[in-house]
Amino acid sequence: MKKILSTLALLSVALFALVACGTSTKSSNSSDPGKLKVVATNSIIADITKNIAGDKIDLHSIVPVGKDPHEYEPLPEDVQKTSQADLIFYNGINLETGGNAWFTKLVKNAKKTENKDYFAVSDGVDVIYLEGESEKGKEDPHAWLNLENGIIFAKNVAKQLSAKDPKNKDFYEKNLADYTAKLDKLDQEAKEKFNNIPADKKMIVTSEGCFKYFSKAYGVPSAYIWEINTEEEGTPDQIKTLVEKLRQTKTPALFVESSVDDRPMKTVSKDTNIPIYAKIFTDSIAEEGQDGDSYYSMMKYNLDKIAEGLSK
Ligand SMILES: [Zn+2]
Repeated sequence: MKKILSTLALLSVALFALVACGTSTKSSNSSDPGKLKVVATNSIIADITKNIAGDKIDLHSIVPVGKDPHEYEPLPEDVQKTSQADLIFYNGINLETGGNAWFTKLVKNAKKTENKDYFAVSDGVDVIYLEGESEKGKEDPHAWLNLENGIIFAKNVAKQLSAKDPKNKDFYEKNLADYTAKLDKLDQEAKEKFNNIPADKKMIVTSEGCFKYFSKAYGVPSAYIWEINTEEEGTPDQIKTLVEKLRQTKTPALFVESSVDDRPMKTVSKDTNIPIYAKIFTDSIAEEGQDGDSYYSMMKYNLDKIAEGLSK
């Protein structure tokens, strides 16, 4: 009996060593134990975070580039990274918490606490509300399409990084100052950019009504097929309403977002004879290596394309 017990003990030590070895090999491949583990819900927030944190953190971005952040099903890797995270950044104001509320479920399952483990980067933004009948009164999440709000996002990110990782506070603050100066310069340019476009041509047309913050900041009204990506997208009634609205204007160009189905906008284009001028980036940055592959460059790309399209 004694012999069997000691053999068992030996076996379990061997097993433990094997398991421990397997685990440590995996974690050394995927993360550095000394670094703060940070999760961002989408590519825009992840990019803002990268600009401030550089290589001081291990960053995981949840919703893939080009995909819709409103409604998403987290993968096992997202669940694991969220459970292990020291800090989680989400947009808030009815983005990941609207629709199927994927983020609300994710942080609940990961046993994370609001304003301790996870923070809304939109905190402090002057919120605009939705208009459509079924959505009226809910928050419009697309605050980042006004660069002034992008600066608020960046400040919130830097504040929480410094709080969780005070030894790198100076590094984060220096990067924040450089980054917000760059965003501020683009914001000033954007405020002048549409001055020479005649009023009857000044209209940004997209699939989702995501340009309310942009419209208010840069003085270009917007029109759309559907109010928000969590409602039905591109019904015949929605298309008809937009087509009738456009027939009253001299809008020279339509736009379609990289993260939606482009077929409803193609129907609008066919019915109005207004061309789709460009694909723009609203709820996701572009694929790496392409124009628009950061928050700054997606905003610059959108501003340039919208000004060009409306000047036709
Ligand atoms: Zn959206």
